[in-house]
Amino acid sequence: MISFEDYLQLLPKTELHCHLVSTMRPATLHELAQRYGVELWSDDVDELFDFADLVDFLRGWRVAHEVLRESADLERVAWEGVADAVAQGNLRYREYYVNPQYFAHPEYAGARPMSYVEVMAAVIAGLSRAERDFGVGFRVVAAINRRESAEAAVALVREMIAHPFAEVVGIGQDDLTPENTEDPTRFADAYALAGAHGLLRTAHVGETPAARPSAVRDAIEVLGCDRIDHGYRVVDDPAVLALARDRGIGFATTPVSTTICSGWTLDEGHRIRAMIDAGLPVSVSTDDAMFFRTDLGREYREGLVALGLDAAAAKRIALDGIDMAFCSDAEKERLRAEFRAQFLALDTLLEP
Ligand SMILES: [Zn+2]
Repeated sequence: MISFEDYLQLLPKTELHCHLVSTMRPATLHELAQRYGVELWSDDVDELFDFADLVDFLRGWRVAHEVLRESADLERVAWEGVADAVAQGNLRYREYYVNPQYFAHPEYAGARPMSYVEVMAAVIAGLSRAERDFGVGFRVVAAINRRESAEAAVALVREMIAHPFAEVVGIGQDDLTPENTEDPTRFADAYALAGAHGLLRTAHVGETPAARPSAVRDAIEVLGCDRIDHGYRVVDDPAVLALARDRGIGFATTPVSTTICSGWTLDEGHRIRAMIDAGLPVSVSTDDAMFFRTDLGREYREGLVALGLDAAAAKRIALDGIDMAFCSDAEKERLRAEFRAQFLALDTLLEP
């Protein structure tokens, strides 16, 4: 027999919301920082991942891009991140946000900025090797850097259209605007262009303390999002909640990570619980695992227990992740069959 925590740990999982840089091992961060002479944001190893809030965290997150300077670095981080998530939480499928604008940016890219093609090819090579080794499927979503201009976001989408990769299926976002806001409509042109070329769309909204439910509405109605990252403010406005539910919009939430950023308490009163109770499709991810000292197992083991959810809800979350994924229908069917078989085996082991 196994405990409920073990059950949650062993449950097969998708992860739809993680940033590639954040899947790095702390040891790899230190090793590469030393190799390239990159000064990290804190000398104190114990305090390196203590952040006051989202804005404080993002300072460190930007610096972490600086240690990835060669294709081999990206390939290594991509592979290691899968190996760890399989061991820590039975990961079976994952989608990554990769921000090509940082790797091309002289301020963050070190001595040799990398092109869009170079970055994506290296990440895909690492994830493909991991897929062969661990059977974990993947897709990549190019992240619009919200610190950059609306024009730069359009240029990124043009680059995606000019250099298509089968594995790069959509656009999303990372960071915040220079004013530390979400401001989804700023990037409306980039999203329209992406949609016109068949790219799938997701956006980080309704996450920050200052965010409004209207940002969730804008992501759905103005950006045409197929899915939303975070989106917690959706439950603050019944009309926006009804809109999301009617459109079948899924939400890629990150319980433990978001609690660190928002200062909210992770309990049965948390917005994620309200989203689930309202019938919205909700999946669970780590967002920025290395920085928040979390992993996919912990998000389920601690997060779902704190939210007061049972085994049935945990299985629903795992399956919702498949429904919301940006992979093919055939791949989804294969994943559902694999998940259901593992659920059956785990259910017989769960202590009554
Ligand atoms: Zn995120």
